[in-house]
Amino acid sequence: MSDALRDLYQEVLLDHYRRPRNAGVLADATHEAQGNNPLCGDRIKLQLGLDGDRLERIAFESSGCAISTAAASLMSEAVKGKTKSEAESLFREFQRMLTAPVAAPDAEERLGKLAIFEGVREFPVRVKCATLPWHTLHAALANERTKVTTE
Ligand code: ZN
Repeated sequence: MSDALRDLYQEVLLDHYRRPRNAGVLADATHEAQGNNPLCGDRIKLQLGLDGDRLERIAFESSGCAISTAAASLMSEAVKGKTKSEAESLFREFQRMLTAPVAAPDAEERLGKLAIFEGVREFPVRVKCATLPWHTLHAALANERTKVTTE
């Protein structure tokens, strides 16, 4: 990790920790899930408002460390307006950056601001903090709040 990226990481992380984007609750959520990282004590409640296949609205409440809160904030910005499959592929890309031995060469291009988390890969415990919001998103997309069944 270059010094420039490290400085950017600190700056962006603190900014999103102090002023989380899309923090709060949705009155009309279509999907929601809760995530828990007992290793660090991070908790997140994520709500989504989908219009068809598109994530039109997103909100979260979190308590925990700076990394998990900032990761949730950055994630919410990154996936808002995206389709379910675009959001899922961003999740896979993010996870690959943090866990694969070698990052994909053009990962930074696809991840944009999320690339600041690259240095977290050196700290496996922190990887769980950074990916918690994404695992929660994955769960929320798979579980509609209200399940309609004909059985
Ligand atoms: Zn944490």
